[in-house]
Amino acid sequence: MISFVLVADVDSTLIKDEVIELLADAAGTRAEVAQITARAMAGDIDFAESLRERVATLRGLPESVISETIRRVRPSNGLAELVDAVHRRQGRIGAVSGGFSQVLDVLAPQYGIDMWRANSLSIRDGHLLGEVTGTIVDARVKAQTLRQWSADLGLPSAQVIAMGDGANDLLMMDEAGLSIAYCAKPRVREHAQVSIDVPDLREVIPYLPQTP
Ligand SMILES: [Mg+2]
Repeated sequence: MISFVLVADVDSTLIKDEVIELLADAAGTRAEVAQITARAMAGDIDFAESLRERVATLRGLPESVISETIRRVRPSNGLAELVDAVHRRQGRIGAVSGGFSQVLDVLAPQYGIDMWRANSLSIRDGHLLGEVTGTIVDARVKAQTLRQWSADLGLPSAQVIAMGDGANDLLMMDEAGLSIAYCAKPRVREHAQVSIDVPDLREVIPYLPQTP
């Protein structure tokens, strides 16, 4: 019997980094990309458009930047403890990301995350094409994914927690019984029911439902 699901954003939530910025280091475009990310997360520009713009700067990079980037990703403080606490309470943790499946497919199992969804970088002949394939995981798709996972697990919204830091997490927060802003942008802090401003995921544990 699964008692709840915690659906969390990845970049600047479950991990300390923005993966697109780590990838952009290799392209020498980090400053430009970081500036666009900040505007997207504050909700000042459209996420999907901003993602295309940022990914375009990665065009031509060798595929090996992905494994180099994976090695540089730093999990947020307390991630292992939070995942343990969720599982001890018969919960599940899902990660829904505007970042990339090539990174999350490696990291999510390492972190003990139960399910995940992200964008897919297009790669041909060992090089990044500077594009993403398939549906872009934006605010709307994050909310849809949360609904899908809740339905698959047979959980009503009261047993769903959404957590994130950016403007593209706002819609999924509206679908959840509890919304948590984690070291979030002002708009997100104001919107969420709970705001955690200490950079430590163990702060989330008291808000998890108790074991039935
Ligand atoms: Mg984020």
